[in-house]
This record gives sequence, structure tokens and C-alpha cells, in this order.
Amino acid sequence: MMAQRLFYRNWIVDLGYDPEERLELLFQFEPPHEPETIGPEELARLDAIGRRVIAAVERLSDRERAFIERFYFMGQSYREISHETNRAVHKLERIHRGALKKLRRFLADLAREEYGLEPGPESACPICCSPEVDEINRLIRERDPRATWRPILAALRERFHVTVTTPQILIGHAKYHL
Ligand SMILES: [Zn+2]
Repeated sequence: MMAQRLFYRNWIVDLGYDPEERLELLFQFEPPHEPETIGPEELARLDAIGRRVIAAVERLSDRERAFIERFYFMGQSYREISHETNRAVHKLERIHRGALKKLRRFLADLAREEYGLEPGPESACPICCSPEVDEINRLIRERDPRATWRPILAALRERFHVTVTTPQILIGHAKYHL
């Protein structure tokens, strides 16, 4: 798990995503190869990976995305980010953990296809694996917190065709994956 986490971090830095310049900066952060040794096929592959990473970062919440951009793409420290966003460091750490968890899940297919990495247990979540996960998450966020999970379980089954064998899967998803 630790190796995987480090891998994701290095990988995002290597891609050098910048919210303004997008793929322009792809090779400005210690490129993994000398640029002149990269053939058109490898370039196309890196470009495709970059696009998938960007799409994943764009699925994060606003504050998670802002943190990832500052920390990984702009190289700011916790202290700098704390100063500029008026958020305590321990809060930033929580945002950071949540963002990495989501990115690991969003990018699990890519990690398997391109790097042969097997997903962690979170990516096995049937709700996260649904193509309609954003819509499901919206339902969960907007639910009446005093109500039971029954209406959401019914929606999962009937509307989204997601098989949840026990309500614990839904509760765990709502608690840790949202
Ligand atoms: Zn989930």
C-alpha cells in the first residue's frame, strides 16, 4: 500500500499537471526519460495518461483539487498552503488523504493497464466502480440523514443496477469514499 501511495505521488509530479498550462508542462518536472529519446508512440501514451490523470483530478471536490494543484503541481509546502488558504495544517492533511484516496480509486484502471498495479480494496467498491458514481454520490449527499438507507439501496438496485450484497458496503462507501 505504501509503495502504491508513493508511486501515485511521484507519478502525478512526473506528469507535471498545471491547471493553466495543462499538458504543456508534461516534461518540465524531471522527465522520466530524456525528451529526445521519446518516440511518437511513447509521447501519445504519456499524453493519454496525462489526460486521464487530469480528468481524475477534475472529479475531486474544489478544495481537494486546489490542494493537489498547489502541493503537487505548484510545489507549495503545507505551510504555504495553510497561509494562503487560511486552513490549519491538520485540516489540509485530512483533505490530502481524502484526495489521494479518491485518485487511487479513479485511476485504478489506468494503474492496472499501464503499470500492472493491482487496485487496493477501495477500488473494489461496487458503488465507486459504477459509471454513475457521481449521480449516486449526489443522492447520498442529499439524503435525509434521519432516514434509513432503504431508499438509496432501492435506487442502487433498480435505477443504477449496482449489486450491494450488504448495506455495510453502502455505509462504508458513504463514510470513506465520498
Ligand atoms: Zn465506494
